[in-house]
Amino acid sequence: MGIIIVIPAIALVVGDGRIDFRRLILGLLLRRLGHKSFIIDPYQRSRVMRYKRHFYTAALVLCSAAGTYFATHSTAQPTMGRQAGADNDYQLGATLYMQKAAEYRALTYQAYNLARWQLDADLDKKNVKKLPKDQRKMQRAVVVDIDETVLDNSPSQAHGIKDHVGFDLKQWYAWGEMRKAKAIPGSVDFLNYAVSKGVKVFFISNRDDVQKQATIDNLKNVGFQDVSVDNVILRTTESSKETRRQMIASKYRIVLLMGDNLDDLSNVFERKSVSDRFSEVDKVKNDWGKRWIVLPNAMYGTWENAIYEYGRLTDAQKAEKRLNSLELP
Ligand SMILES: [Mg+2]
Repeated sequence: MGIIIVIPAIALVVGDGRIDFRRLILGLLLRRLGHKSFIIDPYQRSRVMRYKRHFYTAALVLCSAAGTYFATHSTAQPTMGRQAGADNDYQLGATLYMQKAAEYRALTYQAYNLARWQLDADLDKKNVKKLPKDQRKMQRAVVVDIDETVLDNSPSQAHGIKDHVGFDLKQWYAWGEMRKAKAIPGSVDFLNYAVSKGVKVFFISNRDDVQKQATIDNLKNVGFQDVSVDNVILRTTESSKETRRQMIASKYRIVLLMGDNLDDLSNVFERKSVSDRFSEVDKVKNDWGKRWIVLPNAMYGTWENAIYEYGRLTDAQKAEKRLNSLELP
């Protein structure tokens, strides 16, 4: 509607002022809109009428432009959705790396091979003799995170990138309900090996507790043998995993912790700045690959939140932070 009105109005404004069919069309349109006081006389050329004509034309252009703007935006929002248009092109490389780089697979096998060597070393009775007495008879446990540690959610990330949809809880739940996440290479063999050696496996995840059954089903589907409501511990009240780790440590001797996020390992890394996370990692540089084993995840994580200083930023503000964080020559 706005376009229909704007075109003849503009034609009149930019014309030479002579009366022609364009003015007649405009007059008819104005009459139809109820402007009875504005009657176009093809032979009237008085100054008053010219002022009137310019005034009405300008008003018409403004109104129709405003109408076009509101019509466009009011119809776009419901169909596009709240998260549409998200700036997530920057995640493309990280997601492709997880899905298509053989180097990524090599890294996850490497992590789980390392885990097996460390577990075997602990299963050696010599190690146990070095432990404090109260821990010697405790059953061993291995604690792993779920997402991007034992289950691969890159298809969900890929969907968001292709459709320019930012993280959306409903979409995340829907992906979980599909129970289609594949296992991270190496994870099934290692954890089933641990179970075969009498080690208790715990899956600690910040998936919401409402996702529990779907998560258990997915873990079983990909081949994990020891999976139940008791050892799949999801988030109920707090996102920090420390309380859940302590609960396990009160009954088991935790031999290994594995995750794609430093917060999966200890609370010393939580809510720290980029430089403080570096410092904490450097402090224990000789321990990586022993009790704590990290898996690669460049798609998302606390590492990214630290760049944003844990703020609730717009896409544009995040993009600016990312660019400003780059180290140049
Ligand atoms: Mg994870």
